[in-house]
Amino acid sequence: MQDYEKELSLKQERVGHLLSGLVPVVEPIIGADNPYHYRNKVHAALGMDRGRIIAGTYEPGTHKIIDGGGNELENESAVKVINDIVKIAAKYHMSIYNEKTGQGFLRRILVRTADGTGQMLVVVVVTDHMFPGKKNFVKTLVGKHPEITSIVININRRTDSMILGDKSEVCYGPGYITDTLLGKKFSISAESFYQINREQAQKLYAKAIEYAGLSKSDRVLDAYCGTGTIGICMSDDAGSVVGVELNSKAVSDAGHNIRKNNASNVKVINADATEYMEKTAAAGKEQFDVVLLDPPREGTTPEFISACGKLKPSRIVYVSCNPETLARDLKLFAEEGYSAVKACPVDMFCFTEHVETVCLLSNTQ
Ligand code: SAH
Repeated sequence: MQDYEKELSLKQERVGHLLSGLVPVVEPIIGADNPYHYRNKVHAALGMDRGRIIAGTYEPGTHKIIDGGGNELENESAVKVINDIVKIAAKYHMSIYNEKTGQGFLRRILVRTADGTGQMLVVVVVTDHMFPGKKNFVKTLVGKHPEITSIVININRRTDSMILGDKSEVCYGPGYITDTLLGKKFSISAESFYQINREQAQKLYAKAIEYAGLSKSDRVLDAYCGTGTIGICMSDDAGSVVGVELNSKAVSDAGHNIRKNNASNVKVINADATEYMEKTAAAGKEQFDVVLLDPPREGTTPEFISACGKLKPSRIVYVSCNPETLARDLKLFAEEGYSAVKACPVDMFCFTEHVETVCLLSNTQ
């Protein structure tokens, strides 16, 4: 824990330094109660080492599997399931895929856990749709791990580094799990985008909601909304929410999540966030009281920011996963009449270099 405290203060310092002169108040970083075993998405590559099956992550920059690599940050039940799959594979003499020769059957294992409900999805990645002994495999695994609520077999014959292939077969349960964030329900399938650290994601969303200072009549834009999680978590406190997301699979997951939560005041549009903002600003019909944005590491665009200047929301909440691009974008927001009021770093990825920051801007004109 001493190391973790040190890491938190370094992250605080880094964000404070990058935002100095731009944000008057940087609140204390929100750290994790338990910085270990937070990863709810656990992926193990399989290989052979001196006649023994090994499972773990790749050594950075290589394709050498480190047996048990990454386990200290991964969900412990997921790791146990992976270790037991290795034992079952050894017992039944299942062949393990060899990247160099392209031979072998069992390739990877992906486990996703929903810590809010205790559900677990196991994705077994193999190279052939013929899975000898599949029924027994599933029965043995579920017998050992009743916490598994769904098993999917994915067929991946690709030679690139994609984890999953295009074909999947649900062979136990519904093929997805349901998790909760701030009391709302979200479906997670093998490929869905979902926050890796549930405990910290909830703290991040709660901070974003606090900064948005919502009232029942507020119209909110949730830009770069992914599967709609932030917007849906805000929907009880807002009048309406429009989400914008580029990835069409995430948009269809968002539609599913909206229905699952009866969030009838939320809609999600499949578009480039900048294009949507520019069109909306030009049309001059739609208005927003709050613009929330959660862009990828490269930040947003000057065009998005200038469209914000035209749409004139009273508050902007910027959720950033890269304080450098946040600082760059804050300078452009200032030119549009938006000054930063406060910011708060949140540690979503303990024991990595990453840090998230939530920042509130208000219209000074
Ligand atoms: N707010 C969500 C997702 C944030 S990740 C959450 O908390 O889970 C950033 C998202 O931005 C991803 O879903 C990515 O697909 C999307 N994205 C990336 N570029 C985009 C663009 N130009 N326009 C709209 N969405 C974009």
